[in-house]
Amino acid sequence: MPTSVDAPDTLTRPFDVAQVRAQFPTLQRTVHGDQPLVYLDNAATSQKPDVVIDRIRAYYAEENSNVHRGVHRLSQVATDAYEGAREKIARFINAAHTHEVIFTRGTTEGINLVAHSLGASHLSAGDEIIVSEMEHHSNIVPWQMLCERVGATLRVIPVSDAGELDYDAYADMLGEQTGLVAIGHISNALGTINPVQQMIADAHAVGALTLIDGAQSTQHSRVDVQALDCDFFCFSGHKMFGPTGIGVLYGKEDLLNAMPPFQGGGDMIDRVSFDGTTYDALPHKFEAGTPHIEGAIGLGAAVDFIEGLDMDAVQAHEADLLAYATEQLQTIDGLRIIGTAQEKASVISFLVGDAHPYDVGTLLDQMGIAVRTGHHCTEPLMDRYGIPGTVRASFALYNTRDDVDRLVQALKRIQPLLS
Ligand code: PMP
Repeated sequence: MPTSVDAPDTLTRPFDVAQVRAQFPTLQRTVHGDQPLVYLDNAATSQKPDVVIDRIRAYYAEENSNVHRGVHRLSQVATDAYEGAREKIARFINAAHTHEVIFTRGTTEGINLVAHSLGASHLSAGDEIIVSEMEHHSNIVPWQMLCERVGATLRVIPVSDAGELDYDAYADMLGEQTGLVAIGHISNALGTINPVQQMIADAHAVGALTLIDGAQSTQHSRVDVQALDCDFFCFSGHKMFGPTGIGVLYGKEDLLNAMPPFQGGGDMIDRVSFDGTTYDALPHKFEAGTPHIEGAIGLGAAVDFIEGLDMDAVQAHEADLLAYATEQLQTIDGLRIIGTAQEKASVISFLVGDAHPYDVGTLLDQMGIAVRTGHHCTEPLMDRYGIPGTVRASFALYNTRDDVDRLVQALKRIQPLLS
């Protein structure tokens, strides 16, 4: 079909998965001798493209210096690169202000920061914090700790057999006693995409604050924090093609300003004296100590990488992988998919007959196929299904139908060994 010369390139160009794969060195390697790697553990962490690896190398080779306060040239270069990454990320999630982007170690630290600081300023005995049964431990344990500290109560939205939130139960829980609703955008264990926009609106209607655990959403979808209207949004660089040890807490300016600092130390102060210390403005108030400079810069490069892709085409590609893998896996005798929500990202948890997930994962690994096994840091969810864990195949934009075929063929080959 002829393409219009006026049409933007991204509308007419099909998603070229081979060209994308070629940018990821790890995807070119073999494991256990000559087995080509089939990497299906993207919900745990994604692989990194050359642009991210090269950017980190360039930082250390040419720009390495501590950020802020330095008068010398390299410190200014490093500071510009670090703060430039913050600007990129603010644009990427459509934050209203760059200083609403706080660098953290990852989603876990972002949630802990909010639990600590919001707990000190906004939540008290009698308040309720709502989470769901499908949350990652990172979005459960900090709230349990906060509840113990301030005397608040944790409420839990139940999950259906299909892996969807019981929305009526959620609506019934909301009330003037609700202080905070903390919900995962996409479940790492089931792939369920939660209706967070509606949940945020309903929470706000009763005056509650909202935090979205976006650990699984920034690699699969466009996130617009202003459209969502969430009060806080946390994510991790390593799950979206960036480095480990870096992540982001987005928070609305007025809330972040009203919250006390999380950690004290260098870089977060305005003036220190033994008569009293005053704190720096956002975002520095929440970034004590020397930050993960190359992590932030590498995450900026990952954002550039994602923004260079046609996200609609990526989403169509991942939807195709999910549909194809779901269909193909169901051709395996005794295979049961855990999590069949209507709205799902490209994450498939399953069990094969009575086989222990660990045995399945170990045998798949021998054939070059990397999946995750276990409870996926969602023990309450596994308890809900009465299972010890699952095998989880999680797909990223660089996976192919061929990867699905290799997984399914391998499962068929190992099946006799499992009974
Ligand atoms: N929430 C969800 C939904 C996750 O999948 C993860 C990582 N598996 C986390 C939180 C924690 O992320 P991190 O370990 O990068 O802090």
